[in-house]
Amino acid sequence: MATLHYSGSRYETAAGETVLECLERHGQTVAHSCRSGICQSCLLRAVEGTVPAAAQQGLRENRKQQCYFLACMARPDNDLRIELPGEAVRLGVTVAELSRLSETVLRVRLMSDRPLVYRPGQYVTFLRPGLARSYSIASLPDEPALEFHVRQIAGGRMSGWLHAGAGIGDAFEVQGPQGECFYTAERKEQPLLLAGAGTGLAPLYGIVRDALQQGHTGAIRLYHGARTADGLYLVDDLRALAAQYPQLHYEPTTAPLLETILAGQAKWGGWRGYFCGDPALVGQLKKQLFLAGMAMRDIYADAFVPAAGSS
Ligand SMILES: Cc1cc2nc3c(=O)[nH]c(=O)nc-3n(C[C@H](O)[C@H](O)[C@H](O)COP(=O)(O)OP(=O)(O)OC[C@H]3O[C@@H](n4cnc5c(N)ncnc54)[C@H](O)[C@@H]3O)c2cc1C
Repeated sequence: MATLHYSGSRYETAAGETVLECLERHGQTVAHSCRSGICQSCLLRAVEGTVPAAAQQGLRENRKQQCYFLACMARPDNDLRIELPGEAVRLGVTVAELSRLSETVLRVRLMSDRPLVYRPGQYVTFLRPGLARSYSIASLPDEPALEFHVRQIAGGRMSGWLHAGAGIGDAFEVQGPQGECFYTAERKEQPLLLAGAGTGLAPLYGIVRDALQQGHTGAIRLYHGARTADGLYLVDDLRALAAQYPQLHYEPTTAPLLETILAGQAKWGGWRGYFCGDPALVGQLKKQLFLAGMAMRDIYADAFVPAAGSS
């Protein structure tokens, strides 16, 4: 038997009862359908406590690592604090650094008022009065600040404030983390393809350093595209990283990204892909790399879709 903490209340499970059954018995409505671990519509997340392995069968590795589980299959033997998927924390941050990575890209480092548990490559939402915009996390959890790469957008409300209005010590709130575009170490020998244009590099910069820090042994190919050489940034840092890790191939390019990748290698079966940035490019990369043999389950992507109503 276990205690479930859910939506501000405590519920005791009966012997042999699943989390879904327990919550229903106490009048909670939880989305569900098959009740046999197949449809995954009863997905919940444990923010405290250990989830039984049987309740994570069939979930993607990224979800397992974030402690997602299926309520219909979970018979917990320890207390759990549970929330609905996608519920993210809100925390206060202050601006610690604003420095130029290129003519149009700003490195923004933020200190949070309490630790944020995240995986490099996930994103958080910056919140200012009447404004919410997502930015990908480029830092590693053991670094003191949260790092973001923000492109200046003409007339952009959030990017405009960060580029021209924000100062060191300014405080605001962020919400997150969210997203499943991050490295998992379950197959350290699997080769990785990372590709993005512009600030699509931000999550990839986090993911590649996370993979190397976790001892990834397979080949890693990192492609960063930009229309002009000015748009390529962190080139020296990434060249130094590639010199340090022989399995890392880093290629900054002003040529079309997809063509560059496919010219280097036509078949990508068995590789895992991470594609980030411009939505049209991400869509093309997903489709063409799938056609070149990459399994859909091995493709992780974050398209930087502009906020609705922002145009
Ligand atoms: C999951 C996710 C992760 C993201 N990560 C990053 C990141 O790491 N770095 C980053 O710089 N951005 C990132 N973005 C984009 C970011 O959330 C904002 O959309 C962007 O900064 C523009 O916001 P803004 O308030 O400055 O512009 P807005 O005020 O929203 O828009 C101003 C004008 O610019 C147009 N516009 C908006 N975006 C673009 C664009 N990309 N290209 C051309 N015109 C545009 C709008 O249609 C509007 O006309 C991410 C988006 C998502 C969904």
